Amino acid sequence: MNGKEIQRDILKLIREHHDWFNNSIPLIASENIPSPAVREAVASDFGNRYAEGWPGERVYAGCTYIDKVENICNDLARVVFKAEFADCRATSGVVANLAIYSAFSNPGDTMIASSIPTGGHISHGKKEHSGTAGLVHGLMIEHFPFSKENMTIDVEETKKKINNMINDGRPPKIAMFGGSLFLFPHPVKELAEFLHEKNIYINYDGAHVAGLIAGGQFQDPLREGADSMTMSSHKTLWGPQGGIIVSAEKYAEPIKKAIFPGNTSSHHLHHVAGKAVALAESLEFGQDYAKQVIKNAKMLAYSLANYGFKVLGEKRGYTESHQLAVDVSNYGDGGTIEKELERCNIILNRQLLPGDIKEGRNYLHPSGVRIGVPEVTRLGMKENEMQEIATFIKKVVIDKQDVSKVLPKVIEFKKDFQKVHYAFDDKTSAYQYIQLVNI
Ligand SMILES: *Cc1c(COP(=O)(O)O)cnc(C)c1O
Repeated sequence: MNGKEIQRDILKLIREHHDWFNNSIPLIASENIPSPAVREAVASDFGNRYAEGWPGERVYAGCTYIDKVENICNDLARVVFKAEFADCRATSGVVANLAIYSAFSNPGDTMIASSIPTGGHISHGKKEHSGTAGLVHGLMIEHFPFSKENMTIDVEETKKKINNMINDGRPPKIAMFGGSLFLFPHPVKELAEFLHEKNIYINYDGAHVAGLIAGGQFQDPLREGADSMTMSSHKTLWGPQGGIIVSAEKYAEPIKKAIFPGNTSSHHLHHVAGKAVALAESLEFGQDYAKQVIKNAKMLAYSLANYGFKVLGEKRGYTESHQLAVDVSNYGDGGTIEKELERCNIILNRQLLPGDIKEGRNYLHPSGVRIGVPEVTRLGMKENEMQEIATFIKKVVIDKQDVSKVLPKVIEFKKDFQKVHYAFDDKTSAYQYIQLVNI
Protein backbone atom coordinates (compact mmCIF):
# COMPACT_ATOMS: atom_id res chain seq x y z
CA MET A 1 0.00 0.00 0.00
CA ASN A 2 1.37 3.44 -0.83
CA GLY A 3 0.71 6.73 0.85
CA LYS A 4 -1.70 7.95 -1.78
CA GLU A 5 -3.83 4.82 -1.45
CA ILE A 6 -3.84 5.16 2.31
CA GLN A 7 -4.94 8.78 1.96
CA ARG A 8 -7.77 7.72 -0.34
CA ASP A 9 -8.84 5.07 2.16
CA ILE A 10 -8.87 7.55 5.01
CA LEU A 11 -11.05 9.98 3.08
CA LYS A 12 -13.32 7.11 2.00
CA LEU A 13 -13.79 6.03 5.62
CA ILE A 14 -14.74 9.58 6.55
CA ARG A 15 -17.29 9.69 3.74
CA GLU A 16 -18.73 6.39 4.93
CA HIS A 17 -19.11 7.92 8.39
CA HIS A 18 -21.00 10.84 6.84
CA ASP A 19 -23.31 8.44 4.98
CA TRP A 20 -23.94 6.48 8.15
CA PHE A 21 -24.93 9.58 10.10
CA ASN A 22 -27.19 10.66 7.24
CA ASN A 23 -29.09 7.43 7.85
CA SER A 24 -28.99 7.39 11.67
CA ILE A 25 -30.89 8.69 14.65
CA PRO A 26 -28.19 10.43 16.75
CA LEU A 27 -29.16 10.41 20.45
CA ILE A 28 -25.86 10.94 22.26
CA ALA A 29 -26.67 13.59 24.88
CA SER A 30 -23.26 15.30 24.60
CA GLU A 31 -23.42 15.74 20.82
CA ASN A 32 -25.05 18.13 18.41
CA ILE A 33 -24.82 19.07 14.73
CA PRO A 34 -23.31 22.46 13.92
CA SER A 35 -24.70 24.67 11.17
CA PRO A 36 -23.06 24.90 7.74
CA ALA A 37 -21.76 28.37 8.76
CA VAL A 38 -19.99 26.93 11.82
CA ARG A 39 -18.49 24.19 9.66
CA GLU A 40 -17.26 26.77 7.16
CA ALA A 41 -15.55 28.75 9.94
CA VAL A 42 -13.91 25.57 11.22
CA ALA A 43 -12.60 24.70 7.74
CA SER A 44 -10.90 28.12 7.45
CA ASP A 45 -7.19 29.04 7.64
CA PHE A 46 -7.70 30.22 11.24
CA GLY A 47 -6.94 26.63 12.21
CA ASN A 48 -3.35 26.91 10.97
CA ARG A 49 -2.36 30.02 12.97
CA TYR A 50 -1.03 30.85 16.40
CA ALA A 51 -2.37 33.65 18.58
CA GLU A 52 -1.09 33.05 22.11
CA GLY A 53 -2.36 35.58 24.61
CA TRP A 54 -5.31 37.97 24.63
CA PRO A 55 -6.60 39.88 21.56
CA GLY A 56 -4.44 43.00 21.12
CA GLU A 57 -1.66 41.54 23.30
CA ARG A 58 -0.55 38.58 21.18
CA VAL A 59 2.77 36.82 21.19
CA TYR A 60 2.56 36.40 17.38
CA ALA A 61 2.06 38.63 14.33
CA GLY A 62 -0.63 37.89 11.74
CA CYS A 63 -3.55 38.19 14.14
CA THR A 64 -5.38 41.23 12.69
CA TYR A 65 -8.55 39.37 11.72
CA ILE A 66 -8.19 36.68 14.34
CA ASP A 67 -8.28 39.35 17.08
CA LYS A 68 -11.46 40.84 15.66
CA VAL A 69 -13.21 37.48 15.55
CA GLU A 70 -12.05 36.50 19.04
CA ASN A 71 -13.28 39.82 20.44
CA ILE A 72 -16.67 39.22 18.82
CA CYS A 73 -16.71 35.72 20.30
CA ASN A 74 -15.99 36.95 23.84
CA ASP A 75 -18.52 39.80 23.48
CA LEU A 76 -21.21 37.37 22.35
CA ALA A 77 -20.45 34.94 25.19
CA ARG A 78 -20.86 37.80 27.67
CA VAL A 79 -24.21 38.75 26.16
CA VAL A 80 -25.57 35.22 25.75
CA PHE A 81 -24.63 34.18 29.31
CA LYS A 82 -25.17 37.65 30.87
CA ALA A 83 -21.63 37.57 32.24
CA GLU A 84 -19.18 40.36 33.04
CA PHE A 85 -16.27 38.33 31.70
CA ALA A 86 -15.84 35.60 29.06
CA ASP A 87 -12.83 33.68 27.81
CA CYS A 88 -13.47 31.52 24.74
CA ARG A 89 -9.96 30.10 24.44
CA ALA A 90 -10.31 26.83 26.36
CA THR A 91 -9.83 24.07 23.80
CA SER A 92 -12.34 21.80 25.55
CA GLY A 93 -14.59 21.56 28.58
CA VAL A 94 -11.91 19.60 30.41
CA VAL A 95 -9.37 22.37 29.77
CA ALA A 96 -11.89 24.94 31.01
CA ASN A 97 -12.27 22.96 34.26
CA LEU A 98 -8.51 22.60 34.60
CA ALA A 99 -8.15 26.36 34.26
CA ILE A 100 -10.60 26.83 37.16
CA TYR A 101 -8.72 24.31 39.32
CA SER A 102 -5.42 26.04 38.49
CA ALA A 103 -6.78 29.52 39.18
CA PHE A 104 -8.64 28.85 42.44
CA SER A 105 -6.99 25.91 44.21
CA ASN A 106 -3.65 24.31 44.92
CA PRO A 107 -2.62 20.65 44.69
CA GLY A 108 -3.61 18.93 47.93
CA ASP A 109 -6.76 21.04 48.37
CA THR A 110 -10.16 19.36 48.43
CA MET A 111 -13.01 19.81 45.96
CA ILE A 112 -16.58 18.63 46.41
CA ALA A 113 -18.22 17.38 43.21
CA SER A 114 -20.67 14.73 42.00
CA SER A 115 -19.57 11.10 41.72
CA ILE A 116 -19.72 9.61 38.24
CA PRO A 117 -22.80 7.37 38.82
CA THR A 118 -24.66 10.40 40.20
CA GLY A 119 -23.78 12.49 37.16
CA GLY A 120 -20.24 13.80 37.71
CA HIS A 121 -17.74 13.98 34.87
CA ILE A 122 -14.34 12.28 34.80
CA SER A 123 -12.72 15.74 34.77
CA HIS A 124 -14.13 16.21 38.33
CA GLY A 125 -12.72 12.85 39.40
CA LYS A 126 -10.25 11.34 41.84
CA LYS A 127 -6.67 10.43 41.08
CA GLU A 128 -7.32 6.71 41.60
CA HIS A 129 -9.86 6.85 38.74
CA SER A 130 -7.46 8.93 36.61
CA GLY A 131 -9.88 11.84 36.97
CA THR A 132 -8.47 15.15 35.75
CA ALA A 133 -8.95 17.02 39.06
CA GLY A 134 -7.03 14.40 41.03
CA LEU A 135 -4.53 13.18 38.46
CA VAL A 136 -3.55 16.47 36.83
CA HIS A 137 -4.09 19.06 39.56
CA GLY A 138 -3.65 16.91 42.68
CA LEU A 139 -7.06 17.74 44.16
CA MET A 140 -8.63 15.47 46.78
CA ILE A 141 -12.25 14.75 45.86
CA GLU A 142 -15.29 14.37 48.09
CA HIS A 143 -18.74 13.66 46.65
CA PHE A 144 -21.98 15.55 47.04
CA PRO A 145 -24.67 13.49 48.81
CA PHE A 146 -27.29 12.62 46.18
CA SER A 147 -31.04 12.05 46.35
CA LYS A 148 -31.94 9.19 44.01
CA GLU A 149 -35.62 10.00 44.37
CA ASN A 150 -35.16 13.60 43.25
CA MET A 151 -32.20 12.80 40.96
CA THR A 152 -30.19 15.77 42.21
CA ILE A 153 -27.78 16.88 44.95
CA ASP A 154 -29.24 16.68 48.49
CA VAL A 155 -29.02 20.16 50.06
CA GLU A 156 -29.27 19.34 53.78
CA GLU A 157 -26.93 16.34 53.59
CA THR A 158 -24.43 18.47 51.67
CA LYS A 159 -24.41 21.12 54.42
CA LYS A 160 -23.83 18.41 57.05
CA LYS A 161 -21.04 16.86 55.03
CA ILE A 162 -19.27 20.17 54.46
CA ASN A 163 -19.56 21.09 58.15
CA ASN A 164 -17.95 17.73 58.99
CA MET A 165 -15.18 18.32 56.46
CA ILE A 166 -14.49 21.72 58.04
CA ASN A 167 -14.44 20.17 61.52
CA ASP A 168 -11.96 17.56 60.25
CA GLY A 169 -9.68 20.35 58.99
CA ARG A 170 -10.32 19.54 55.32
CA PRO A 171 -12.61 22.34 54.12
CA PRO A 172 -13.39 22.18 50.39
CA LYS A 173 -11.73 24.91 48.35
CA ILE A 174 -14.05 24.48 45.36
CA ALA A 175 -17.63 23.29 45.02
CA MET A 176 -18.22 21.95 41.51
CA PHE A 177 -21.82 21.81 40.36
CA GLY A 178 -23.07 20.45 37.04
CA GLY A 179 -22.55 17.11 35.40
CA SER A 180 -22.97 14.69 32.55
CA LEU A 181 -26.01 12.76 33.70
CA PHE A 182 -28.02 15.87 34.36
CA LEU A 183 -31.81 15.66 34.41
CA PHE A 184 -32.72 18.43 36.87
CA PRO A 185 -31.08 21.72 37.92
CA HIS A 186 -28.52 21.54 40.71
CA PRO A 187 -29.21 23.45 43.97
CA VAL A 188 -26.84 26.35 43.38
CA LYS A 189 -29.12 29.03 44.81
CA GLU A 190 -29.94 26.83 47.83
CA LEU A 191 -26.26 26.36 48.67
CA ALA A 192 -24.45 29.47 47.37
CA GLU A 193 -24.75 31.57 50.51
CA PHE A 194 -23.72 28.67 52.77
CA LEU A 195 -20.69 27.95 50.56
CA HIS A 196 -19.60 31.57 50.21
CA GLU A 197 -19.79 32.12 53.98
CA LYS A 198 -17.24 29.33 54.23
CA ASN A 199 -15.01 30.82 51.52
CA ILE A 200 -15.69 28.01 49.08
CA TYR A 201 -15.36 28.96 45.40
CA ILE A 202 -18.34 27.88 43.28
CA ASN A 203 -17.94 26.70 39.71
CA TYR A 204 -20.84 25.42 37.66
CA ASP A 205 -19.91 22.97 34.93
CA GLY A 206 -22.47 23.69 32.23
CA ALA A 207 -20.82 21.46 29.61
CA HIS A 208 -24.09 19.66 28.91
CA VAL A 209 -26.67 22.36 29.51
CA ALA A 210 -24.94 25.50 28.14
CA GLY A 211 -27.34 25.69 25.17
CA LEU A 212 -30.35 25.44 27.49
CA ILE A 213 -28.92 28.19 29.71
CA ALA A 214 -28.18 30.30 26.61
CA GLY A 215 -31.84 29.90 25.66
CA GLY A 216 -32.99 30.86 29.17
CA GLN A 217 -34.67 27.47 29.77
CA PHE A 218 -32.60 25.88 32.54
CA GLN A 219 -31.20 27.33 35.75
CA ASP A 220 -29.09 30.52 35.54
CA PRO A 221 -25.97 29.68 37.57
CA LEU A 222 -24.32 33.12 37.56
CA ARG A 223 -27.51 34.71 38.92
CA GLU A 224 -27.90 31.91 41.50
CA GLY A 225 -24.48 32.53 43.03
CA ALA A 226 -21.91 30.60 40.99
CA ASP A 227 -18.59 32.46 40.70
CA SER A 228 -17.90 31.04 37.27
CA MET A 229 -19.34 28.68 34.71
CA THR A 230 -17.29 26.37 32.53
CA MET A 231 -18.80 24.68 29.50
CA SER A 232 -18.25 22.74 26.34
CA SER A 233 -19.19 24.61 23.17
CA HIS A 234 -20.60 21.58 21.34
CA LYS A 235 -23.24 19.80 23.41
CA THR A 236 -26.58 21.61 23.78
CA LEU A 237 -24.61 24.65 22.63
CA TRP A 238 -24.19 23.92 18.91
CA GLY A 239 -20.68 25.07 18.16
CA PRO A 240 -17.54 23.17 17.23
CA GLN A 241 -15.80 21.14 19.95
CA GLY A 242 -14.21 23.43 22.53
CA GLY A 243 -14.64 25.16 25.87
CA ILE A 244 -15.78 28.54 27.22
CA ILE A 245 -15.51 30.11 30.68
CA VAL A 246 -17.74 32.95 31.89
CA SER A 247 -17.48 34.66 35.28
CA ALA A 248 -17.68 37.84 37.31
CA GLU A 249 -15.12 40.50 36.29
CA LYS A 250 -13.17 40.08 39.54
CA TYR A 251 -12.05 36.59 38.44
CA ALA A 252 -10.93 37.67 34.94
CA GLU A 253 -7.20 37.94 35.58
CA PRO A 254 -6.63 34.56 37.29
CA ILE A 255 -8.77 32.81 34.65
CA LYS A 256 -6.94 34.46 31.75
CA LYS A 257 -3.56 33.40 33.17
CA ALA A 258 -4.79 29.89 33.84
CA ILE A 259 -5.86 29.53 30.19
CA PHE A 260 -2.68 31.06 28.76
CA PRO A 261 0.06 30.27 29.54
CA GLY A 262 -1.27 27.81 32.14
CA ASN A 263 -3.28 25.34 30.12
CA THR A 264 -3.03 26.20 26.40
CA SER A 265 -0.56 27.40 23.82
CA SER A 266 -2.42 27.26 20.50
CA HIS A 267 -6.08 27.72 21.28
CA HIS A 268 -7.60 26.28 18.08
CA LEU A 269 -8.54 29.57 16.41
CA HIS A 270 -10.79 27.93 13.81
CA HIS A 271 -12.87 26.66 16.72
CA VAL A 272 -12.95 30.14 18.27
CA ALA A 273 -14.36 31.36 14.94
CA GLY A 274 -16.91 28.52 14.98
CA LYS A 275 -17.87 29.33 18.58
CA ALA A 276 -18.48 32.96 17.54
CA VAL A 277 -20.84 31.89 14.74
CA ALA A 278 -22.63 29.44 17.06
CA LEU A 279 -23.14 32.15 19.70
CA ALA A 280 -24.55 34.49 17.04
CA GLU A 281 -27.06 31.74 16.16
CA SER A 282 -27.88 31.44 19.87
CA LEU A 283 -28.88 35.10 20.01
CA GLU A 284 -31.38 34.53 17.23
CA PHE A 285 -32.62 30.96 17.71
CA GLY A 286 -31.37 29.86 21.14
CA GLN A 287 -34.61 30.32 23.04
CA ASP A 288 -36.88 28.51 20.53
CA TYR A 289 -34.38 25.70 20.27
CA ALA A 290 -33.96 25.20 24.02
CA LYS A 291 -37.73 25.11 24.54
CA GLN A 292 -38.19 22.46 21.86
CA VAL A 293 -35.26 20.40 23.19
CA ILE A 294 -36.88 20.16 26.64
CA LYS A 295 -40.33 19.38 25.19
CA ASN A 296 -38.79 16.64 23.08
CA ALA A 297 -36.87 15.12 26.00
CA LYS A 298 -40.04 15.00 28.11
CA MET A 299 -42.07 13.48 25.29
CA LEU A 300 -39.45 10.80 24.63
CA ALA A 301 -39.31 10.00 28.35
CA TYR A 302 -43.11 9.68 28.65
CA SER A 303 -43.34 7.61 25.48
CA LEU A 304 -40.68 5.17 26.68
CA ALA A 305 -42.29 4.96 30.12
CA ASN A 306 -45.63 4.14 28.42
CA TYR A 307 -43.96 1.17 26.76
CA GLY A 308 -42.88 -0.08 30.20
CA PHE A 309 -39.33 1.26 30.27
CA LYS A 310 -37.98 2.24 33.69
CA VAL A 311 -37.19 5.92 33.07
CA LEU A 312 -35.44 7.61 36.01
CA GLY A 313 -36.82 10.67 37.79
CA GLU A 314 -40.45 9.56 37.46
CA LYS A 315 -41.52 11.49 40.54
CA ARG A 316 -40.42 14.77 38.93
CA GLY A 317 -41.65 14.13 35.39
CA TYR A 318 -38.46 12.37 34.22
CA THR A 319 -36.45 15.36 33.02
CA GLU A 320 -36.18 19.14 32.76
CA SER A 321 -33.15 19.04 30.49
CA HIS A 322 -32.13 17.66 27.09
CA GLN A 323 -31.59 14.11 28.31
CA LEU A 324 -33.17 11.16 30.04
CA ALA A 325 -31.83 8.07 31.73
CA VAL A 326 -33.35 4.62 31.38
CA ASP A 327 -32.65 1.58 33.53
CA VAL A 328 -32.56 -1.23 30.94
CA SER A 329 -31.43 -4.00 33.30
CA ASN A 330 -34.66 -5.93 32.65
CA TYR A 331 -33.65 -6.37 29.00
CA GLY A 332 -29.87 -6.89 29.18
CA ASP A 333 -27.40 -4.28 30.30
CA GLY A 334 -26.49 -0.82 29.03
CA GLY A 335 -23.53 -2.16 27.05
CA THR A 336 -25.42 -4.84 25.11
CA ILE A 337 -28.44 -2.59 24.52
CA GLU A 338 -26.16 0.15 23.16
CA LYS A 339 -24.78 -2.36 20.61
CA GLU A 340 -28.20 -3.74 19.61
CA LEU A 341 -29.47 -0.22 18.93
CA GLU A 342 -26.33 0.80 17.05
CA ARG A 343 -26.87 -2.07 14.59
CA CYS A 344 -30.22 -0.40 13.81
CA ASN A 345 -28.59 3.04 13.37
CA ILE A 346 -29.94 4.30 16.69
CA ILE A 347 -26.93 5.82 18.38
CA LEU A 348 -26.88 6.43 22.14
CA ASN A 349 -24.61 5.53 25.02
CA ARG A 350 -24.62 3.20 27.99
CA GLN A 351 -24.65 4.91 31.36
CA LEU A 352 -23.71 4.15 34.96
CA LEU A 353 -26.73 4.92 37.09
CA PRO A 354 -26.86 5.84 40.81
CA GLY A 355 -26.16 2.67 42.83
CA ASP A 356 -24.45 0.76 39.98
CA ILE A 357 -20.96 0.70 41.52
CA LYS A 358 -22.34 -0.52 44.85
CA GLU A 359 -24.12 -3.32 42.97
CA GLY A 360 -20.82 -4.38 41.40
CA ARG A 361 -21.51 -3.05 37.91
CA ASN A 362 -18.93 -1.19 35.86
CA TYR A 363 -18.88 1.27 32.97
CA LEU A 364 -18.75 -1.52 30.35
CA HIS A 365 -21.93 -3.14 31.66
CA PRO A 366 -23.90 -0.52 33.59
CA SER A 367 -27.63 -0.80 34.22
CA GLY A 368 -28.61 2.15 32.08
CA VAL A 369 -28.54 4.11 28.89
CA ARG A 370 -28.60 7.88 28.51
CA ILE A 371 -30.60 9.42 25.69
CA GLY A 372 -30.22 13.00 24.49
CA VAL A 373 -32.24 14.99 22.00
CA PRO A 374 -30.02 18.03 21.13
CA GLU A 375 -29.11 16.76 17.67
CA VAL A 376 -32.46 15.34 16.56
CA THR A 377 -34.09 18.59 17.68
CA ARG A 378 -31.61 20.60 15.62
CA LEU A 379 -32.59 18.44 12.67
CA GLY A 380 -36.17 19.63 13.06
CA MET A 381 -37.76 16.77 15.00
CA LYS A 382 -40.68 17.53 17.31
CA GLU A 383 -42.92 15.63 19.73
CA ASN A 384 -44.43 13.31 17.07
CA GLU A 385 -40.99 12.15 16.03
CA MET A 386 -40.11 11.47 19.67
CA GLN A 387 -43.01 9.01 19.82
CA GLU A 388 -41.70 7.31 16.69
CA ILE A 389 -38.20 7.08 18.14
CA ALA A 390 -39.62 5.53 21.33
CA THR A 391 -41.36 2.93 19.17
CA PHE A 392 -38.11 2.08 17.34
CA ILE A 393 -36.32 1.68 20.67
CA LYS A 394 -39.09 -0.56 22.00
CA LYS A 395 -38.95 -2.77 18.90
CA VAL A 396 -35.22 -3.32 19.36
CA VAL A 397 -34.93 -3.51 23.14
CA ILE A 398 -38.21 -5.07 24.32
CA ASP A 399 -39.53 -6.92 21.25
CA LYS A 400 -36.00 -7.95 20.15
CA GLN A 401 -37.05 -7.46 16.52
CA ASP A 402 -34.48 -8.31 13.88
CA VAL A 403 -32.13 -5.67 12.44
CA SER A 404 -33.39 -6.45 8.93
CA LYS A 405 -36.88 -5.34 10.00
CA VAL A 406 -36.00 -2.20 11.98
CA LEU A 407 -33.03 -0.76 10.09
CA PRO A 408 -34.81 0.04 6.78
CA LYS A 409 -37.58 1.80 8.73
CA VAL A 410 -35.07 3.90 10.65
CA ILE A 411 -33.39 4.94 7.38
CA GLU A 412 -36.74 5.81 5.83
CA PHE A 413 -37.76 7.85 8.91
CA LYS A 414 -34.50 9.83 8.84
CA LYS A 415 -34.92 10.89 5.19
CA ASP A 416 -37.13 13.83 6.18
CA PHE A 417 -34.57 15.22 8.66
CA GLN A 418 -31.48 16.14 6.69
CA LYS A 419 -31.14 19.89 7.31
CA VAL A 420 -29.93 21.92 10.26
CA HIS A 421 -32.77 24.02 11.70
CA TYR A 422 -32.42 27.07 13.99
CA ALA A 423 -29.71 28.40 11.63
CA PHE A 424 -29.47 31.08 8.94
CA ASP A 425 -28.70 28.60 6.13
CA ASP A 426 -31.41 26.06 5.38
CA LYS A 427 -30.14 24.61 2.11
CA THR A 428 -26.96 22.67 2.90
CA SER A 429 -27.36 19.11 4.17
CA ALA A 430 -26.52 18.56 7.81
CA TYR A 431 -23.91 15.85 7.25
CA GLN A 432 -22.70 17.04 3.84
CA TYR A 433 -19.09 16.09 3.25
CA ILE A 434 -16.92 19.11 2.41
CA GLN A 435 -14.76 18.11 -0.55
CA LEU A 436 -11.56 20.05 -1.24
CA VAL A 437 -9.39 17.54 -3.14
CA ASN A 438 -9.87 15.45 -6.28
CA ILE A 439 -8.70 11.90 -5.79
C1 LIG B 1 -18.49 16.61 28.40
C2 LIG B 1 -18.19 17.15 29.73
C3 LIG B 1 -16.97 17.78 29.98
C4 LIG B 1 -15.83 17.69 29.03
O1 LIG B 1 -15.95 18.45 27.95
P1 LIG B 1 -14.98 18.28 26.70
O2 LIG B 1 -15.36 19.47 25.93
O3 LIG B 1 -15.33 16.97 26.08
O4 LIG B 1 -13.58 18.31 27.19
C5 LIG B 1 -16.79 18.41 31.18
N1 LIG B 1 -17.75 18.39 32.11
C6 LIG B 1 -18.91 17.76 31.94
C7 LIG B 1 -19.92 17.78 33.03
C8 LIG B 1 -19.17 17.10 30.73
O5 LIG B 1 -20.30 16.44 30.56
